[in-house]
Amino acid sequence: MREAIFILLVIAVLLAFTAIRYRKQISAVVQFWKMLDQARKTNPRSEIDEPSNSGSGPLVNCAKCGTWVPESNAIRLGTRVFYCSSACMEKAAKVA
Ligand SMILES: [Zn+2]
Repeated sequence: MREAIFILLVIAVLLAFTAIRYRKQISAVVQFWKMLDQARKTNPRSEIDEPSNSGSGPLVNCAKCGTWVPESNAIRLGTRVFYCSSACMEKAAKVA
């Protein structure tokens, strides 16, 4: 049992020496990690434009009445057909 403690002590001392010897590299790595962490915290907001903002985005033409509305506010039918309101969509559905 004493040997195990001695070995652990030696390992601890070796680790301490390594830490002292490479403290510059270690601190550089730590700083790098902090930088990454900060980048991760600040990036998501600036990278992703929030499309949920009402009134933003490209304008699309209502297939029924021809009104131009922001894509985020329009009712989408398939990939290319848009309606400005549910009323227009219902009218179009009744005709067709
Ligand atoms: Zn419409």
